[in-house]
Amino acid sequence: MSGAELHAHTTASDGILSPQEVVDVALQRHLEALAITDHDTLAGVTEAELQAEGRGLEIIPGVEISCAREKVSVHLLAYWPDLTVGALADELGKIRQSRRSRAAKMVKRLQEMGYSLTLDQVMELASGNNPGRPHVARALVATGAISHPDEAFTSELIGDGGRAYVEKYALDPVEAVEMVLESKGAPVLAHPGVGRGGEGVDSALIEEMADAGLIGLEAGHIDHTPSRKAHFEEMARRLGLLATAGSDCHGVPLKLGTRSTPLQTVQALKERAQTQGNDN
Ligand code: AMP
Ligand code: ZN
Ligand code: FE
Ligand code: FE
Repeated sequence: MSGAELHAHTTASDGILSPQEVVDVALQRHLEALAITDHDTLAGVTEAELQAEGRGLEIIPGVEISCAREKVSVHLLAYWPDLTVGALADELGKIRQSRRSRAAKMVKRLQEMGYSLTLDQVMELASGNNPGRPHVARALVATGAISHPDEAFTSELIGDGGRAYVEKYALDPVEAVEMVLESKGAPVLAHPGVGRGGEGVDSALIEEMADAGLIGLEAGHIDHTPSRKAHFEEMARRLGLLATAGSDCHGVPLKLGTRSTPLQTVQALKERAQTQGNDN
């Protein structure tokens, strides 16, 4: 494997592996660059950088920002954001805070439905910090209610709009693009083909995000069929965006590096972030 893995989660959000472990896997798989893109936090980046130091793997600081438009969730990847600039750091803090209160609400609903999981259990699985639905799902597995975390993502449990599903604070996708550009980061729309029952992100919204300065489209993703990937590569060309790919690895299964982006594209992302950030 070569090139850059541009989408990976760690224990700083809902990944199973620590940042150090993800770096070690990236090195074993001969990747040249690795973006750490946890949900709504850059907390895993420093540990990854320390682990990679002097070992020939470039760490790209990143984050996957929770956004929503009309209750439909949209994920925006941002690479190299400077959190000391603009509103991004504050907004990410608000999302993380909302994740904590929402975890408590989801647990309460599940308890009312007769499940025996506890908030402590969920928070422990989340290392006390940045809980997401996968931690609730793993707690349901731990109590024996289900046998695999994926089984929690149903209308009966915590799937989108499900009985025990609770919304969290999320940013408007266009405002998030603007915020990322202001912070000199490169905004890339994650898995545009995911959501709305396989329809993916509304094309009109993608165009609106492109007009706002979106830089890339994650055409290569595990949940995109080859024809969807080709569709988004074509859309990227039409809208003047860079097409990227990432595995969205959460640790199990260990998909790290199964999708990768050429270093040339990574360089172009970086250059565009610098020039578009300056135009703002
Ligand atoms: P949250 O951000 O807390 O709403 O949780 C979203 C995360 O849950 C995603 O990033 C995935 O890791 C996971 N997820 C979402 N849908 C599913 C699903 N159908 N099966 C398994 N995991 C899912
Ligand atoms: Zn996730
Ligand atoms: Fe995502
Ligand atoms: Fe992700």
